[in-house]
Amino acid sequence: MSHAILFSGEEGSGALPQALSLAKYILCSGKKDGGTACGICTSCRKTAQITHPDLHFVVPVNRSGSQSSVRLPVTDDFLDLWRAAYLENPDITEQEWYKKLEIENKQGVIGAAEAGNIIRKLQFRSFEGGARVMIIWLPERMHPSAANKLLKILEEPAPGTYFLLVSHRPDQLLPTIRSRCMPIQVPPKEQRPLGREAYESLENLLDFCLAGKPSGVLEWAEDMASQGRESQKAFIVAAQRILRQYYMIFLGLPRLAFLDQAAETSARRYAVRMSEPFFQKIYEHLNTASARLERNVNAKALFCSLAFDFFLSLQR
Ligand SMILES: [Zn+2]
Repeated sequence: MSHAILFSGEEGSGALPQALSLAKYILCSGKKDGGTACGICTSCRKTAQITHPDLHFVVPVNRSGSQSSVRLPVTDDFLDLWRAAYLENPDITEQEWYKKLEIENKQGVIGAAEAGNIIRKLQFRSFEGGARVMIIWLPERMHPSAANKLLKILEEPAPGTYFLLVSHRPDQLLPTIRSRCMPIQVPPKEQRPLGREAYESLENLLDFCLAGKPSGVLEWAEDMASQGRESQKAFIVAAQRILRQYYMIFLGLPRLAFLDQAAETSARRYAVRMSEPFFQKIYEHLNTASARLERNVNAKALFCSLAFDFFLSLQR
């Protein structure tokens, strides 16, 4: 594995949590085959809480106006704030972070003092005797003087040291930094494939509807109503995404469904049985169901009504 990896993806793509999962894997002491961390060892638990002593963070920071005369701040000055912010939202945006720092009208920087800090920290052995990971969030905010200081260590870090960079604007990185990292592109969330189970529930319902079996539709609704609120919400969100994929195929634009060959073939079976008015009506019904779920209405009534909306909209 490369010792310097650059995750790039737009804000909200989950690039930062993905870098964290890799860090968790690198630091895990009970790793399994297939690239997954065990999730239960002390290292995994510490990584999840962002308290692992060999997991280091560098993020852009700054001080609000009145305090700017003091020395330039470094990440360690705000470590507790960063931890809390990350745990609250692992996919935190740059502006949300600046809001926490109370510097909303200013930009954060990764300055030369920060680069000095990184080099100093990595001079010593790792605390737990294993690997160590330095996550640099938004390296595009790195001052050129900091970047230049880091070039050598990025190219040849001590054995067991990994740099994981997470950037939303990789084109703004110095080419000298970019060229030293192995790139990993994190696709936007809406282009990422949904799990098989997301399709199954919707396909079950569609099968009953298309076969003209109201008893099956009712059974399906009762099963959905018996599930927890979170999986009910997840079904609605997944159904909206899947129907968007069907709609793209229906329109003859399968590439915009972002599906692989097998998934596209399976989606096509349903898409050809649908119609423009079906898509319009069903989107409305799903939006209504989603809003009603937020208001904690009776789940059985809600899913019965939704399931029969599907059924009726699909009858020709
Ligand atoms: Zn572990």
